[in-house]
Amino acid sequence: MPTTKLSLTQKILLGLFLGLITGLLLNRISPPVETVREEVREVLMEAAPATIRMPAADVRNGAEGLGVTGEVEVHIPASTVAQTRTIDRTPEQRHAWVHTILTDGLFHVVGQIFLAGLMVLVVPLVFVSLVCGTAALDDIRRLGRVGIKTVGFYLFTTAVAISLALVAALIVRPGAGFDLGDGGSFTAREAPSLVQVIIDIFPRNPINAMAQGNMLQIIVFAILFGLAMSLAGEAGKRLLSIFEDLNVVIMRLVWLIMEIAPYGVFALIARTFAAQGFDAIPPLFAYFLLVLAVLVVHALLTYPLLLKLTTGLPPLTFLRKMREVQIFAFSTASSNATLPVTLRTVEERLGVKRSVGSFTVPLGATINMDGTAIMQGVATVFIAQAFVVDLTLVDYLMVILTATLASIGTAGVPGVGLIMLAMVLNQVGLPVEGIALILGVDRLLDMVRTAVNVTGDATVSCIVAKSEGDLDEEVFRGKI
Ligand code: ASP
Repeated sequence: MPTTKLSLTQKILLGLFLGLITGLLLNRISPPVETVREEVREVLMEAAPATIRMPAADVRNGAEGLGVTGEVEVHIPASTVAQTRTIDRTPEQRHAWVHTILTDGLFHVVGQIFLAGLMVLVVPLVFVSLVCGTAALDDIRRLGRVGIKTVGFYLFTTAVAISLALVAALIVRPGAGFDLGDGGSFTAREAPSLVQVIIDIFPRNPINAMAQGNMLQIIVFAILFGLAMSLAGEAGKRLLSIFEDLNVVIMRLVWLIMEIAPYGVFALIARTFAAQGFDAIPPLFAYFLLVLAVLVVHALLTYPLLLKLTTGLPPLTFLRKMREVQIFAFSTASSNATLPVTLRTVEERLGVKRSVGSFTVPLGATINMDGTAIMQGVATVFIAQAFVVDLTLVDYLMVILTATLASIGTAGVPGVGLIMLAMVLNQVGLPVEGIALILGVDRLLDMVRTAVNVTGDATVSCIVAKSEGDLDEEVFRGKI
């Protein structure tokens, strides 16, 4: 019998599909129960109707006043003393074992361990590889040029993404006539102010920055450290060789984590879909489909077109090589957690030299979120339409500006798009509670938009590298 060996990407893809099917199946067998708030009426005392005889003088309001004396017959109607209480009730679960043993047991544990494996690599990887990248730079001015180009392209693609979303939403009108119902509730976390965002880029304590995984601060510190190393002569050279070795070791670690990825992806996806199912979609069908459509257009049209026009490189090869990264992003819903895989792919399979990739990829994971911007564009128009608020052209420009800037100060972790959306809604005076309307489908969209976010990071990395003569086309076009 011929044995066919699956490649790692195929195995990960298989993990994704099996996870999806398992999750949906479990969701059918045993949908997750939500605690429901119920009003219960409690009867404290009940009295049957009765007829009693009593002296007329004892009757309140004086039956005697009516000229009645002696004994009277009094009819007491049935009466109840009751009170209403609100209680939280968790309905009985038919197959509760599905949750205790699988979704909240095995899948949760495997998924979280896999996520931890990725996250634990992020800080050392970004720091070490960026230090190597900067220290090896022969020309310091080049750093400034690469920086400006990278940030410029990131802002540009984000602005295109959100404009696309706004236009699509204005044409399709997904929120027109939407039944607001009671909409659930959403408490917005406070969004950082722009001034604070700028100040926060600069680290005061590098260890603190690393402990908190503050990507921008780590980037700034790594660049300064690398620069100092390149200026420090012999000592810098010696240190660089240690950092180079460290880099090789950490990259090896990325490989190890990738080996367990098929199981990790399976567990994460199965758990998410067991909890989510597709039940939340129908009432938000128009919104969900529109965000999805714009995300797909941006990933499959805008990026490939941009890549082709600016570099002449074949977009299909790019998309094929990005598949693995996209699956990671989809299953973790976090650009940050996907960072090790993005970096590895960009450098080892797309041929971007480390001096560029080590800078553009971590920066992209933090400041470039095109998929998230798309969700915000559609969501803003959706909420405005649902609440029947007319936005002006200036409002739309504000949305573009705020959404683009908001992406800079927020890290690529699950659900952060909602915080950014709160900023955007505030800016144009829409009710932040509107977010509650779209909450039900946000987790599913988060997964897809994260895949778009990382595709954007890699696209810009290739464009910048090519423009700097730092892209190895042979690797890019190669089979691996
Ligand atoms: N989860 C997204 C990311 O990590 C951000 C978001 O849209 O919530 O890129």
